[in-house]
Order: sequence, then C-alpha cells, then structure tokens
Amino acid sequence: MKETEALQNGRIIRGVGGFYYVSCEDGILYECKARGLFRKEGTKPLVGDLCRVAPVKDSGPGAYPVGNIEEILPRKSTLLRPAVANVDQALIIFSLKSPEPNFGLLDTFLLRMELSGLPVMIAFNKTDLDREGELEKEAERIYESTGYTILFFSAKEQEGVEEIQKRLTGKCTAVAGPSGVGKSSLINLLQGNVRMETGGVSRKTSRGKHTTRHSELIRLSGGGYICDTPGFTSLGTDEFEKEDIARGFREIGKWQDACRFAGCSHIAEPDCAVKEKLAEGLISPERYDSYVRLYTECRDRRRSR
Ligand code: GDP
Ligand code: ZN
Repeated sequence: MKETEALQNGRIIRGVGGFYYVSCEDGILYECKARGLFRKEGTKPLVGDLCRVAPVKDSGPGAYPVGNIEEILPRKSTLLRPAVANVDQALIIFSLKSPEPNFGLLDTFLLRMELSGLPVMIAFNKTDLDREGELEKEAERIYESTGYTILFFSAKEQEGVEEIQKRLTGKCTAVAGPSGVGKSSLINLLQGNVRMETGGVSRKTSRGKHTTRHSELIRLSGGGYICDTPGFTSLGTDEFEKEDIARGFREIGKWQDACRFAGCSHIAEPDCAVKEKLAEGLISPERYDSYVRLYTECRDRRRSR
C-alpha cells in the first residue's frame, strides 16, 4: 500500500465520472477515487456520504489534491430524486408574490416530506413585495396549525436571511421550490463570496444551466450544506395510498382517532372529528381542501386500476 497521511473525515459533495469530491475537515476539497471500497463493502459512494479519506502524498499538478475514500460511514438516511445521503432537513421555498404561492403544490410537497419523515421548514421569499404584510398574514393563517416552522425573508433586501442561515448551520438541507421564487438568490447569499472548493472557478451562476443534473452539495459560508434539488417535476401522489394522506397532513391526522368510524375519510361520514375541528378553525379550509383533493386523487387512481 502506498504511503498516506492521516485519514481525514469528510463529506462527498459531488460525484462525476467515477471521481468523488470530498470536502474534508482540513478545509481541503479532495478529488477521490473509491478504489477497492465497492469490492470490500458493497457500497457505492453517494453524494452526502460521510467518509474517511486517505490523502495521497505529492499528488501532482492536478486541479485538486488527490485522495482515496477508504471508508463510508453508516448512512442516517437516503433521499431519492436526487439521490443524496444524510440529508437532515428540507427547506421549501415559495414566494409571497411574483409568482403567487400555489398552496396546493406546497401541500403536496409537505405531504411527501411528512410521510418520508424528513423535518421540513417553509420559507416565503419576497417580503419586500408585501409591505403591508397581508400576504404574510394569509400564509401564516393557513399554515399556523400545521406546526411547521414558517419563515419569511427577502433575498433582495437581505431581510430574514440570517434567521434562515442560523437554521441551516451544521446541517445538510435539501432546498426545493418552484422556479422563480428566489432559490438561487437565497443560495447565493448563503454561500458567501468565495467558493474556494471549486478551484477558484465560481459556480454560482451555473445553477439551472446544467443540461444533465448531478446531485451536488453546496457548502455554506456559515457551515453546513445545501442540496439544491431539481424541483417540482414528478410531484404526483402515485406513491401514496389514500390511508396515508391524513397522516401526512399533521393537523388533520392528529384528530382522526376521535372519528366515529375507523377508516373515516373525513369527507362525508357523520361524527367526524376532523370536520369538527375544521368548523372550530383548528384546521384551515385551504389545508382541508388540499387534503380532500389528494385523498380523492389517490382513491380514484386505485379504483381505475
Ligand atoms: P429561482 O428560480 O427560484 O432560483 O429564483 P431566482 O433566484 O432566479 O429569482 C427569480 C426572480 O426573482 C429574479 O428575477 C430575482 O431577481 C427575483 N427575486 C429573488 N428574490 C427576490 C426578492 O426577495 N424580492 C424580489 N422583489 N425579487 C426577488
Ligand atoms: Zn373523520
């Protein structure tokens, strides 16, 4: 075996053509192979993996210092589409205006996240277009009883960005949202000015211009990583059963044990606890409508099979 320096702990932030780029605790980005690893452990490295790297001494004049991945640490979780390991949480971004929030789409996304068990935060951008605060109030009213963390910010005015940064520090966060809501603008702010790890080439402007999308982690200036997810295509309900839907709407699922009928759909049955809470204002009508829409979609899909 070749002489190597002490092993470094790191995280794979990019994988291209058999090379893995590992951001290590020594602050260096290593270009690595995973020689022998797959044979030994049957593990294929994944972006997001925490690993141990053996730096190769005198690795020559290439763009990056070279290392070899010796070990992949056990994965806490694996996100599919994009495939990323060890994601801690999701941040869903919408804008209050231009474009107006599509709450139905947000609810579909929340349902999927809730059922996958990933903690979620919602952030609404463009507060600068809502100086009266009316749109903010509306979003708060709809989502208050969900219990999700709801943040408001303006990437343009750089308001509320620190609060978001604080919540991302030290974590790996999947960022998602429709196009035009300001995801790139926010990510640029969180990245700070310098991107040392890309060898001096700024990748800031490259977002959205890739023809093929590899998953990739972006290192934040305050610590932590962002995984910029390709978005909101394929947001169907195919993978759910109608029985799952209420559980995926937290503030609806939590009342359903009190319904008269087990398996209550909370749509037309008598003595439905969910409909009572809806009438009392403990569930917002918008969220309930989303629930009914998704439940019906799931039910009808199954019938037509
Ligand atoms: P993405 O598609 O989600 O990545 O959104 P971008 O970051 O590309 O932003 C889309 C558009 O919204 C651009 O024209 C931005 O200049 C604009 N934008 C981003 N953040 C803000 C904001 O806080 N306020 C306003 N008024 N416009 C914003
Ligand atoms: Zn019910």
